[in-house]
Formats: sequence, structure tokens, C-alpha cells
Amino acid sequence: MSTLIDATSTAAGSSGAGFGRFFLPGPTEVREDVLRAMLQPMIGHRGKGIEEIMGRIAPRLQKVFRTSRAVYSVTSSATGLMEGGVRNAVRERVLCLVNGSFSERFYKAAKNSGIPCDKLEVPYGAYHSPEMLADSLKGGKYDAITMVHSETSTGVLNPIGDLARVAHESGDVVVIVDTVSSMAGAQVECDAWELDYVCTGSQKALAVPPGLAFCTANERIFERARASSRRGLYFDVLELDDYYRKHQTPNTPAVSLLYALDVQLQHIDAEGIEARWARHQAMADRTYAWVAELKDAGLPLSLFAPEGYRSPTVTCIGMPAGKLGSSVTAEMKKRGFVIGSGYGKLKDDMVRIGHMGDHTVDELNALLDALREVLSA
Ligand SMILES: *Cc1c(COP(=O)(O)O)cnc(C)c1O
Repeated sequence: MSTLIDATSTAAGSSGAGFGRFFLPGPTEVREDVLRAMLQPMIGHRGKGIEEIMGRIAPRLQKVFRTSRAVYSVTSSATGLMEGGVRNAVRERVLCLVNGSFSERFYKAAKNSGIPCDKLEVPYGAYHSPEMLADSLKGGKYDAITMVHSETSTGVLNPIGDLARVAHESGDVVVIVDTVSSMAGAQVECDAWELDYVCTGSQKALAVPPGLAFCTANERIFERARASSRRGLYFDVLELDDYYRKHQTPNTPAVSLLYALDVQLQHIDAEGIEARWARHQAMADRTYAWVAELKDAGLPLSLFAPEGYRSPTVTCIGMPAGKLGSSVTAEMKKRGFVIGSGYGKLKDDMVRIGHMGDHTVDELNALLDALREVLSA
């Protein structure tokens, strides 16, 4: 079974013919050799074949997560592990930091799981400040918080390192973090920032097809999980950990996606995680500069997220009067480019560019040229 990547294909801009047209903020464009890896024949999930793959994947995922803890690979979309997070980790009551559609989903996952929960809400497009969180945690009502690092519906990057510090300073409060659109595209330090539970998905900045999700948990989470009557079976971190030790998964994994992940993690390793963050930041900076250029030229575009709190993986651009997000994406499609319209209730107010995964500034520039044409028409 061939799992080694071709060294020439790791260079920027050599991701396969026709690559560089698909800029949805998830799923993202996937390299040709990663897609091709999925054509390998099936193997059993209780044998050497899978154990070799899991054994290769494990240390590479730890490097991406910046952790010495185990990182579990689960067959699910990312939402499964958001739900798993609150089910394993909340004792009595959780505070959900809500500033967009995905952070609202965290609240819903808690609520529908029967977990007592409240929201700490700021308007869509805003971020949560550490001071605000410290205030809400006074009184000791909460033993856990949920937060989303890169809120893909607004392009806001929440300061999770500072928020985690404030949470821990306020007592026995664990932080449950969604890094779905930031992991592998923005700096996330699971260990250094003491992020107790962190989850992400395969189809955003990791640039693997959708269907896998990943999480890591520390001893504080395990301790709570042992006592939790809500942790269920499929997303039970204790069960995941047992099988991880054997380089297996509790249930039948999406074997084909593991083939893809195995190859993509070799690419990510070859690039280096810090270089990957820098490439994403360069694409984000290029997008901001482009918005400023168009503004100077008389086209009133706006960046939805405030300066200093912008996600390096997704940019939400407010549309000028008379331009609907959904018609702009349709016009872009005619030119061969896919971008996102606004998410949910923001559908027509903005477009969203997912400059994440394996894209480069050159590819982004071609997209921005086309977008300039569409917006100037
Ligand atoms: C995409 C996304 C999700 C949902 O992921 P699924 O894989 O569709 O379940 C959750 N949170 C954020 C921030 C996302 O960008």
C-alpha cells in the first residue's frame, strides 16, 4: 500500500490540476493525491493495517494540536464532538459564549442534551473580552464554558488563550473549545493555553474531505467524564482513550478518510505547522489589503470582524448597497470560483471567503481579481 507522498507535490501551488477555485469556508479544496489515497482497498479495523495508519497519524495530529496528550480521530462531523464535549465535561452548569451561528450551536448541543446552560451573548461580529467573562464567572455558578475560536459565520477570532486563563483563574472551570475552522490554519496551543477539551473537523483548514472529527482532553475532563451520567457511548472520551492506546477506534472508522488523512498529515508535516499558520495569515492580510484598495477606489466594502480579532482562515466581507451576497456568489460561480454567501440570517449581507487549507496567495489573487470584476459590474 503506497502511503508515501511525492516530495514535489508538497510545494505550494502543486496541489493538482485545476486546484485553486474552491474557496468555501468548509468543506475546503482537497489535494489530488489526498483524494486519490481514498481509492485504496478496504482493510479490517482490528488489525495491523489500521494500527499502522493510526500509529502514523497520532504524533502528527499532536503536532497540529500542539499537545502531548492523545488526539482522538472520530468518524463524525465536528458537531458530534462539540456535543461530546459538553456531555463529557460539564458537571452542573455550563456558560456558552455566543457570538455567531456555530457558538449558538454549542449552546443548543448542551440544551438538547439536558445540560443546564446559559448564554453569554455578544452581537454577531463581536468577540468576548476576558473582563466580560471574568464578570460572568463570579459567584461560581458555572463549572464549564464553551467557546468557538474562529466563528466561521462572522469571521471573528475569539481570544481563547486569554479567555481560558480567566476561566481557570475563576475556579474549577473547564474550557470546551471549538477550533473547527482554526485548527491547522491559525495558532492554537492546546497545552500552553491549557485548553481542557478541544475539537475540530477534517474539512476546514486541515483540508481533508468531510467526515472525520478530532478532539483532545486532559485529566480534568477524564475525571468529569468518569462521573458523568450523560457522556453516552459514541463520544465517550474514556472509550476513545482506551482504543487510542491500541491504535484503534471503538467502532468501525471511515477507513477511506483515514487513508486521506494519513497522506494530508504528511503534507502538513512537510510544510510545518508554523509555516502553515503564516501562509493563512498572509492570505488573510492580502484580503484585508484588497478590501482597502476597493474602498479607496470608491466601492464601499467592509470587513465584518473588528481589527485584531479577525480569523486568518475566513474573511466575511460586507456588501455595498444593491449587491446581495447570494447573487455575488452566483456570478462568481459563472467565472468558475466558489465562495460562500453569508451564513444563516446574514446570507445576503456578506460574502465569505474561506482562504484556508492548501490555498496560496497567488490562487487567492486570481479569486480576488474575479471578485473585483463582479463587484464593479
Ligand atoms: C464548520 C463548523 C462547525 C460544524 O462542523 P460540522 O463538521 O459541519 O459538524 C462547527 N463550528 C465551526 C466554527 C465551524 O466552522
